[in-house]
Amino acid sequence: MSTYDDQSAVTVLGLGPMGRALAGAFLDAGVRTTVWNRTPGRDGDLVARGAVSAATAAEAVAASPLTVVCVVNYDASDAILRQDDVTDALKSRTVVNLTADTPDRARDTSVWAAAHGIAYLDGAIMTPTPSIGTPDAVFILSGPKDLYDRHHPVLASLGGTHTHLGEDIGRAAAYDIALLDIFWTAMAGYAHALAVARAENVTARELAPFAQGIATILPPLFTEFAGDVDDATYSGDLNPITSAASSMSHIVHAAESHGIDAGLMRIVEGLTRRVIAEGHGTDGFVRVTDLLSRHAR
Ligand code: NDP
Repeated sequence: MSTYDDQSAVTVLGLGPMGRALAGAFLDAGVRTTVWNRTPGRDGDLVARGAVSAATAAEAVAASPLTVVCVVNYDASDAILRQDDVTDALKSRTVVNLTADTPDRARDTSVWAAAHGIAYLDGAIMTPTPSIGTPDAVFILSGPKDLYDRHHPVLASLGGTHTHLGEDIGRAAAYDIALLDIFWTAMAGYAHALAVARAENVTARELAPFAQGIATILPPLFTEFAGDVDDATYSGDLNPITSAASSMSHIVHAAESHGIDAGLMRIVEGLTRRVIAEGHGTDGFVRVTDLLSRHAR
């Protein structure tokens, strides 16, 4: 039996891996859940678990006061939400867009929503699909706080932690972009490291436990560097950027000696050498943030 009344019903638009995980968590929590996906036939398991399958996106959004969208990007969510019949059906209802894209796309969607009498929250999911519905899930949201508070009880049924980051609708996407910047840069470094290691006859499995050791060094550095950047202190007492540049040049030379593209590391080494050339060789590596920020608009 449902633990929620129909005022708490939810519609999920988009049934990729993440949309299906979200709909499944709502169902597990007893929330009346209507689902729709551009390509039909992706909702079979959800319907078997109690979801209502809508024939059209307009029918789907009309079924619930709250619609959660989770598709590949905002071109896709625009293609769904900005159809006339869907926009009409959304009037006086709430959309929470958990699709990943840029802060500007979130702000543009917010302007569109306001022009059509649609309440709008923007959000991002910072954990993979298996986390959804568990304490490990991480959701970040931004937009009107009263709207967040109103829908939080239903959204909380997705499990994990939910953080309202502020009324600026672009803020969740800003966090998302920054965090994915860390993730993909780290993953690019790992993919590159595996190629260099393989060229030296070290297998990925042999390297993996040591790679995990390297990863554990990072969390305390994130905290320390955050203070350096916010306070503009950039202390390099324990690891000056001259030492970092030397380490990077070894990676470039080792990779290129095997014919492996070292373009990414060359870019980072170039930034560190510019910092040194500007007279900051005794500062820490994170002085690079200052260099990069200088031309930001
Ligand atoms: P995808 O990013 O591949 O998105 C697939 C969904 O997008 C499907 O429902 C697909 O519909 C829909 N779609 C694509 N193009 C269009 C279009 N032009 N019009 C309408 N619908 C379209 O898979 P996920 O479900 O994994 O991701 C959804 C969002 O969640 C993304 O923004 C992603 O970054 C984010 N996310 C995903 C995580 C994960 O672990 N998967 C983790 C954290 C965030 P169709 O079936 O018809 O092609």
